[in-house]
Amino acid sequence: MPVKCCKCDGNAVLKRPKNGEALCRQCFFSIFESEVHHTIVSNKLFKTGEKVAIAASGGKDSTVLAHVMKTLNERHKYGLELLLLSVDEGITGYRDDSLETVKRNQQQYELPLKIVSYEELYGWTMDKIVQQIGLKNNCTFCGVFRRQALDRGAMLLGVEKIVTGHNADDIAETVLMNILRGDIARLQRCTAITTGIEGSIPRSKPFKYTYEKEIVMYAYFKKLDYFSTECIYSPNAYRGHARTYLKDLESIRPSTIIDIIHSGDSLSVKGDVKLPVQGTCLRCGYISSQELCKACILLEGLNRGLPRLGIGKATAANLQTHIAKQKLKQAEDSEGEKCSGSCSCKTKFTTNDKPTYDF
Ligand code: SF4
Ligand code: ZN
Repeated sequence: MPVKCCKCDGNAVLKRPKNGEALCRQCFFSIFESEVHHTIVSNKLFKTGEKVAIAASGGKDSTVLAHVMKTLNERHKYGLELLLLSVDEGITGYRDDSLETVKRNQQQYELPLKIVSYEELYGWTMDKIVQQIGLKNNCTFCGVFRRQALDRGAMLLGVEKIVTGHNADDIAETVLMNILRGDIARLQRCTAITTGIEGSIPRSKPFKYTYEKEIVMYAYFKKLDYFSTECIYSPNAYRGHARTYLKDLESIRPSTIIDIIHSGDSLSVKGDVKLPVQGTCLRCGYISSQELCKACILLEGLNRGLPRLGIGKATAANLQTHIAKQKLKQAEDSEGEKCSGSCSCKTKFTTNDKPTYDF
């Protein structure tokens, strides 16, 4: 005896992971889309006429996001100018293939596409970075570089906002990880639906309350064209453990994911807790709470053959010590060497004449 959809007379094809409701395909699509619309409207994510870049990786989250954003923009007349923005990290056998999916999505959704690459922005691909640093900490480099790459791509496109496919599971995982690491600064802002208002281009997460399992179901039942292979350099063990832990909790109580997000939303930081003060990077102008942003420190380490310079908590201090030692050596060795960046002359501190990424 087929189970009936709880919203209409049709036969149910799925049990909703979020609340266990039995739904037919059409009712599931309708509920999924209207919940995302509700998130967008109730959080005032966009203004009419805004140019919005959809961060597109070809994976399930961003593919569903592109599909749903386009659908809702037309259905509810948001009046947004939508574009796809992708980052090519330079990972052979992974990103090159997933970007092919994005290119097909561009045709399917008839949206303009811009791809920015680590190679052109930083002079390094992830393949080359992994060759130098191995498979430990590679995601630190990749994550920091991607964050800036998206912003720089968005600046090139002149967009007012970026939307990302971060879903409820991702956010709940991040809350757990920040609690486990005692990272108060990140804990305070990691559940915010829009970030970056304080400096970089604002980023919003229309899937903040959308379960990963439902995104997969939506992509499956809509037969969307997405790429599902894992990154070949994906050793992110810590997030992996947080994910497994969360999935275990979810299997006992599905509302765990939303409950953790609500807990994150309700957390407030005591007034006397010191939080980083946002300024701008002296070298590249990107927002940073240190003199140099994390990307510039990591890049500096790579270009000097000292990739560990940017890893760990004392990164800025490591770099300052390194620069001071080098300055001393330069003074001893000769005059007229390349500027070390710690003097006040006008020479820009970009090592090895790698391409700079100022625009
Ligand atoms: Fe980059 Fe790590 Fe993600 Fe691979 S798994 S794309 S290396 S952050
Ligand atoms: Zn910088």
